[in-house]
Amino acid sequence: MSKKFYIETMGCQMNKSDTERLEGMFMELGYDKTTDQKEADFLIVSTCAIRQTSVDKAYSQLGVWGKRKKNRPDIKIGICGCAAEIDKDALFKRMPYLDLIFGTHNIFKFPEFVKRVENGEKVCEITTIPYPEPEELKLNRQDTVGAWIPIIEGCNNFCTYCVVPFTRGRERSRRPELIIKEAQKAIADGKKEITLLGQNVDSYGKDLHDPNITLANLLRELNKIEGKFRIKFVTSYPTDITDDLIEAVAECDKVSKFFHIPMQSGNSRVLKAMNRRYDREQYYEIYNKIRNRYDEVEITSDFIAGFPGETEEEFQDTLSAIEELKIDYSNTAIYSPRPFTKAGRMTDIFIPDEVKEERFQRLHETNCKMTLASNQKLVGKVYEVLCESQKEKHGKMMMNARTTTGKLIHFPSEKDLTGEFVNVKITKAQTWCLYAELVD
Ligand code: SF4
Repeated sequence: MSKKFYIETMGCQMNKSDTERLEGMFMELGYDKTTDQKEADFLIVSTCAIRQTSVDKAYSQLGVWGKRKKNRPDIKIGICGCAAEIDKDALFKRMPYLDLIFGTHNIFKFPEFVKRVENGEKVCEITTIPYPEPEELKLNRQDTVGAWIPIIEGCNNFCTYCVVPFTRGRERSRRPELIIKEAQKAIADGKKEITLLGQNVDSYGKDLHDPNITLANLLRELNKIEGKFRIKFVTSYPTDITDDLIEAVAECDKVSKFFHIPMQSGNSRVLKAMNRRYDREQYYEIYNKIRNRYDEVEITSDFIAGFPGETEEEFQDTLSAIEELKIDYSNTAIYSPRPFTKAGRMTDIFIPDEVKEERFQRLHETNCKMTLASNQKLVGKVYEVLCESQKEKHGKMMMNARTTTGKLIHFPSEKDLTGEFVNVKITKAQTWCLYAELVD
């Protein structure tokens, strides 16, 4: 009987993409996937370090597995991802039941790690030198209709609140031919949406020292792949969005008119303290340039409440920016101090928890108001949507689908249309979803 693996994935889409790679490599080694932790022979937690709560959650999961190992000493336990990068081999002292610790740069060395652990070795490999990607990559895709494809890893920006440059390292772009090959395979396998991933996708190609390798040109190449599918890319850095990229999005019919452009704060002094390379006015300029270029476009953003030293007036600039720009949707977060970061050392100007929480509540309410307003604009219009899954709700079969810009749509259908593009008329808007009916 084959051995079984279980991977618990926390955090961002990049981690989910890493898990697809790890699962593919596990399967090549003859392991089967299980969704039941209790029957797994090899357990791995893929960690996120963006907030301390995510790290605590990962360590608590490992504690549960460590207890299980007392009765089943044959099971192997591993940790990878951003928290592993921070705590490194100190984790062996804290969690002696661990067998494997590896970071974000050497994921393709995973088959070797598994073999060494199977032979009884305790392995810890954290490195800043990327291990090369194999020519043939086996992936175990999680999503039924879409494929997430990393194009660039790491970040050179060093925003003062962010741990990513310390965990994922400096920017490393994948060769365009590898990305195009992976996309072609995903489409040939029946995927209907490709999402290009990176901490800063607009930096794509800069480290490859060829002026023709840019995100704009990559979109143009991917747009040539035969078949009906959509292309998206996340996450964008405001001042790295070029005019050529805006034009490439306009000219490529398969590319969604969708941009995720984190602003983080609406106040120029706070943006400077965050080491963001733009001020409020520059963000407005880029945002409006994109808004005005297309007939219909969705622009989403990220905001932090309670950055060290943020005053009430400065926080209000964030609320006014969301309202003035009419941002379609925002990811909102309370500032969380992270190790190695400059802001994490600004302890004398930390904002008290209760103030941060109260600001976060107002940020959330403003986001809800603007998201609902954005959704209401769709009511009465017809959109092509990609069906993602079917579920029963109150005795009725409902399809879950998304517009090209990512809005979640529910509509009744007895037939399972998963993976199909259909036209729907929007009938009702709520904050987090819309309702629709099929049109012929
Ligand atoms: S751009 Fe800033 S927030 Fe985004 S990953 Fe890089 S350092 Fe972190």
